[in-house]
Amino acid sequence: MPVPNVDVAILGGGCAGLSLAVRLAQSNLSVRVIEPRSTYENDRTWSFWRTRADPFQGCVRKEWTSWTIVGSHGQTTRDSSHLRYQTVESGAFYTHALDRIAASSKTSLSLGVSAKDIVKMKDRWQINTTSGPFTATTVVDTRPPQRIPTYGQFFLGREIKTERPIFNSDVVQLMSFRKARSMGVDFVYILPFAADQALIEVTSFAPDNPGDQVFNEWLNAEILALDAGQIEIVRKEAGALPMEVSFTDHVPDGIIRMGLGGGGARPSTGYAFSRIQDHADHIADALIHGRDPNIVLDGKVTRFMDRVFLQVLTSNPAQGPALFEKLFRNTPRDRLERFLSGSTCAADRLSVMMSLPPRPFLQAAVFPK
Ligand SMILES: Cc1cc2nc3c(=O)[nH]c(=O)nc-3n(C[C@H](O)[C@H](O)[C@H](O)COP(=O)(O)OP(=O)(O)OC[C@H]3O[C@@H](n4cnc5c(N)ncnc54)[C@H](O)[C@@H]3O)c2cc1C
Repeated sequence: MPVPNVDVAILGGGCAGLSLAVRLAQSNLSVRVIEPRSTYENDRTWSFWRTRADPFQGCVRKEWTSWTIVGSHGQTTRDSSHLRYQTVESGAFYTHALDRIAASSKTSLSLGVSAKDIVKMKDRWQINTTSGPFTATTVVDTRPPQRIPTYGQFFLGREIKTERPIFNSDVVQLMSFRKARSMGVDFVYILPFAADQALIEVTSFAPDNPGDQVFNEWLNAEILALDAGQIEIVRKEAGALPMEVSFTDHVPDGIIRMGLGGGGARPSTGYAFSRIQDHADHIADALIHGRDPNIVLDGKVTRFMDRVFLQVLTSNPAQGPALFEKLFRNTPRDRLERFLSGSTCAADRLSVMMSLPPRPFLQAAVFPK
């Protein structure tokens, strides 16, 4: 009987696919990554609070120890003596991943190739691609989600260079709330790389994408209001990330779903990079040791907290800014940031719960939608 062409087929060479491939490149498993792009561009930045090590630490462009929230109660600044908010540049990430794959004799990356359907055979999968079929013992599907989430984080951003030095490059503006332009909670995010260079992003946590026109007008107005002189646009980015508890695409039994379509985004925030790194560690470890990599997305308590939080946001978006302000003002140092990064520590969760006004949460808990 012919043996499968590879041990592991990874469909999609983006954040999740390459994160897994880099880990497997050090193993004895043969791996083939299928990616439609023929070249990689520096198409996004991934920012997150670093709570653990990952193979991409060398790709960090900048890190911060202070961040702010600005709402009707003014500005709340938080800082940390040891927790860092870091930005990984996708260009550096892709280069690092491609180098690691090139250095491995058993891992390959097929660029300019798209996966089509996957057919179950007796003891393997056949993956039909635009460059012909191949077989694999295990398939990890990291292609973008097929399902449309019921709630999401939508954003449009531009990295700009300004004539005048107007940014405080030591402090990230996580959320500066604005009068709603969407059906949800709207805010501006500023990631300052230097006094005259920053990524400025208009963002909505909402049931639907407000659309290009709304976002472009809003972002233009925000950039104009900076009063920064001549503006040079360095880079643009846009995204739509699921914010839904247990959000996963349906895949045939036996296929491993990873990335955004596999619940890679934290439901209450849309942050995904660190969670994808966790999943990559977990799946790589299981595959290398011949185990079934059963990903449990979140524990019961975390799911409950995320569900209730999202229910409060969806049923009363006008309360959203005040809720975030309370969280950032009242939760003890580092605990909220760790919780938002996926911490399951009971003390972190308890601190977050204690920092929120009980009424809307009790209502959402008692009357779930
Ligand atoms: C602009 C932007 C900024 C973001 N910023 C942050 C951030 O600051 N912090 C954070 O935590 N998260 C962030 N995210 C969310 C998340 O981390 C990213 O979306 C991340 O790239 C998700 O990884 P992924 O592998 O699921 O998807 P992707 O990285 O998009 O990878 C999916 C891959 O599948 C490939 N593909 C598509 N069709 C096929 C096919 N038929 N066959 C094979 N492959 C296919 C695509 O070409 C792509 O390479 C951001 C997302 C975006 C879009």
